[in-house]
Formats: sequence, structure tokens, C-alpha cells
Amino acid sequence: MVQAPSGAAKKEDLGKLRPGSSLFARQLRWGLLIALCLGILIMLYQGISDYRSLLNVYDQTNERVINSTLAVAGTAVQERDMELANAVTYSAMVQRSVASVRLITLDGKVLAEQHRDLSALPQSMWTDSLFGGTVTQNIPLYAPSTDLLDRIAVGELEITFSPHVYIAALYGRVEISFIGVFVFALAMTFAAVGVTYFIVTKPLLELIGYMVKVNPTDTKKSLPLPPPYRHDDEIQLLGSSMIGLFALIRSKVEKLANVTEELKSTNLSLETRVEQRTHELNQAVEKLELLAATDPLTGLANRRALMGRLKNAIAVWKRRGTRVGIIILDLDHFKTLNDTYGHQTGDMVLKSLAAVFGRVLRETDLPARVGGEEFAVLISDEDENGLSTVAERLRKAISEDVINANGTTIHYTASLGIACLPVKSDLDMGDGDGIEGLLRQAREVESIIDQLYSLADKALYAAKEKGRNRWELGDPPANFPLAGE
Ligand code: GH3
Ligand code: MG
Ligand code: MG
Repeated sequence: MVQAPSGAAKKEDLGKLRPGSSLFARQLRWGLLIALCLGILIMLYQGISDYRSLLNVYDQTNERVINSTLAVAGTAVQERDMELANAVTYSAMVQRSVASVRLITLDGKVLAEQHRDLSALPQSMWTDSLFGGTVTQNIPLYAPSTDLLDRIAVGELEITFSPHVYIAALYGRVEISFIGVFVFALAMTFAAVGVTYFIVTKPLLELIGYMVKVNPTDTKKSLPLPPPYRHDDEIQLLGSSMIGLFALIRSKVEKLANVTEELKSTNLSLETRVEQRTHELNQAVEKLELLAATDPLTGLANRRALMGRLKNAIAVWKRRGTRVGIIILDLDHFKTLNDTYGHQTGDMVLKSLAAVFGRVLRETDLPARVGGEEFAVLISDEDENGLSTVAERLRKAISEDVINANGTTIHYTASLGIACLPVKSDLDMGDGDGIEGLLRQAREVESIIDQLYSLADKALYAAKEKGRNRWELGDPPANFPLAGE
């Protein structure tokens, strides 16, 4: 369907078009106007030709009256025959265009006289302008003679003509032609409009009705055909053009639907691919993150990862007072071990140590390689006793660990330093400063880490000092954890 800007409203209006609607009314209006103009023209032509022929008859009749009167009137006046004179005037009056007639002798005596009452004749405003108006003619009368050159005047014929009757006749004719022409024009108009209606308007309205009903975009229904029309003309052509147009619209709509479907499925597969790629990317990121947090030789966490976990643990310690402790571990005389058995064997020892961590520590503990042969373990929720127990278990397991390198059995030991952050109950028992005071001082997490680490480091140093293959517990100073406060 061709979409008009006003959409449904326009469609309804078209649907209401019925025979006798605007097209029909316009045909009728113009038909009547043209018929009226033609009628007036025909009437004018008819009126003028009627006038001319009546004028001709009027002139000829008047001439005939004069001629027929003159001959007898001459004798009547010459002989002063009153009877003949009266007969002549009567016979002249027979013609209805004669208004009056008088026979006058030379001495001015009126021999006979007749008048018609003009007011009794049909009156018209055109009496003076059409047919020359009322005209009186004075014609000399001669005695009858055979010699036309030598005639003797005996008197005068005074005759008056009036066109009243002819004007009335003209009116009558015009009236008839007026009625005739208008009846004929009206009939012709209706005939023409009727014929136009059946030939053009009706099939056109049927085509409009068809066009309004068809919805070419509704691909579920088959396209209906235009109303049957059996003439091979322009309307037939219009109908077939319409169906062609609808078919074209339908094919375009179908193509569009196909393209939309294709687009949808392409979108879908694109979405799937994007999802897959995002998944792969996430996996790669996870792997990278893991790599960034892992020591490649031992597979343990690296210093960076340990520091991250330590920060979190300290945040929890600050908020809830959960215990945080670390054990720092350094292999004893490792340089000598390297020098004796080679660097590769040293690496085997480091890997073996990682396996020891796996066996001895719990899931929640985090062992990390923080330097060449220096390790640290983050342990939460253990007091100093608990940490000491873990340290001793580690020391023992390490000293019992055996490495076979090229047929040689290697033993190794480690020294450990322990430090932990105090909690409220510890301090209550201690110098009574209270954890609130300490927490007040604990502004920077990094600073607490440094304090904790250096405390453990000092303990480690002490263990080395005291002969190695042992652990020492860091004794926190009074203002721990914030030195320099
Ligand atoms: P101490 O008991 O005082 O700690 O003695 P030490 O020999 O362990 O002392 P030091 O810290 O001076 O020596 C550390 C040695 O660890 C030096 C280096 O050869 C060795 N080392 C560091 N990183 C690695 C490593 O990745 N692989 C191996 N095989 N050896 C390493
Ligand atoms: Mg060292
Ligand atoms: Mg060492």
C-alpha cells in the first residue's frame, strides 16, 4: 500500500468514495455550465436569424399591401367613390402590421379612414428599435392611366405600419427556441455525464476501492486481482499497472525481510563470536594475572602477589582485629650449596622447598618467593604460639627434606623469623596502651607492612646469628606497629 502522510485517515477517506461523489458532482457542474453557455449562443444565433427572416416578411408584406392598395385607391379617390374607398382601406387593414390607413383627396379631404387600436396589440420595449418602429408613409395617388409618364395625381394614401405583431412573433420564437435549446442542452449534459460516469468514473472508483483494500506488504495473503474490466483501454492499463506496482512492492518487502533475517542471524553469530572472544580474552587476562603474580621457578606467589594479599589482610585486621602474621625464611649457606653442587641443583632445592610448603601449610596460608633464596609465608588467624608451631613444623620438614642430584643426596636447612600484628587482647595484657591507640596511629597500610616485615627480618637475622636451622619470634617494640610516630 502506498503510505499517504496522514496514513489511516487518508485510507478511510478513499474508502468512502462512492458514485455521486466529488468527481461526479464536478462533471455535472461543468456539464451544466457548458450547456448553459452553448444554449445562450445557440439562442442568440437562432434569435438573430429569426429576426432577419421576420424583418424580410414584414418588409415584403408592407410593400405588397401598399401595391395592392395603390391601384384601387387611385380610382376610388379620382371618382370620390366612398364605398370603394372604404373597401380599399378595410382590405389594407386585413394585414395586422397596418396600424392605420387614410385616403386623402388633393384638397385635403379624408375620403376613407381606418385605425387599429395599437394598445390592444402586444406591447414591447423593443417596438421603436426593432423592425424600424412605427412608420407612417404618404404615397401619392394617381388616376388610372396607361401612360406612366403622364399621370395625374388625385390624392394621397397615408398608411402607418407598426411591428407590434412581428415583435410578438419574434418573442414567441425566441421563447420556443429558448426552451428547446435548454431542454436539449440539459438532456445532452445528463447523457454526457452519464456516459462519462459509466465509462470513466465508475471503473475508476472500483479501482480506487481495490487499491484501498490491498495491502501488498502482507506477504501471508496472495495479492488480489483488480475488479474485472473487459475493455482494452487506459483504465485496464491502470489496473494492470496497479497490480504490477503491488507485486513490485511485495517483492521489495520480501527482499527486505530476507535481508533483515540475514542481518539478525549475522548479528547472532557475531554475538556468539564476540562472547567466545571475550571468554578467551578473560582467560588470557586471568593467565596473565596469574603469571604476573607467580614465581616462574617454584610456581609460588611472588613478592607482588604477597604484598597484595598482605594489604587485604591488614585492612581486615584494622576493621575486625583479625590476626595477621608472617614467617620469613632464608636458606642457610645457600651460596655454598650452589658452589658445591651447581646452580641447577640449587634450583632443584628451591623447587623442593616449594613442595615442602605444599605439604606443611594450610590452604589459607600464602607462601611466596620474595627474593633469590628468601621466602615469606602469610598466615592469618594465628597468635604467636600458632605461628611458632607452624615455623617449627616448616623448619623440621625442611631439615628432613632430601634431594637427589646426580646420585648425590643433599640435605639443607633454613632459618625463620616470625612477626605478627598485635590484637586488642594482646595489648590488654601488655602495656595497656590499647588497640584503639595503635589503630589511631595506623594510618598507612604500607607503613604497617614495612614494620611487620622488618620485625620478621630482625627475627630472621637473630636466628642466623644464633646458629641457623631455627626460628625466632620478633618482639614488637612498645610503639609497634608504627615506628616514628
Ligand atoms: P646465609 O646462611 O647467611 O644465608 O648464607 P647464604 O649463602 O645463603 O648467604 P647469601 O644470602 O649471601 O647467599 C645467597 C645465595 O643464594 C647467593 C646466590 O648464589 C644464591 N641464589 C640466589 N638466587 C638463586 C637462584 O635462583 N638459584 C640458585 N641456585 N641460587 C640462588
Ligand atoms: Mg639470603
Ligand atoms: Mg641464605
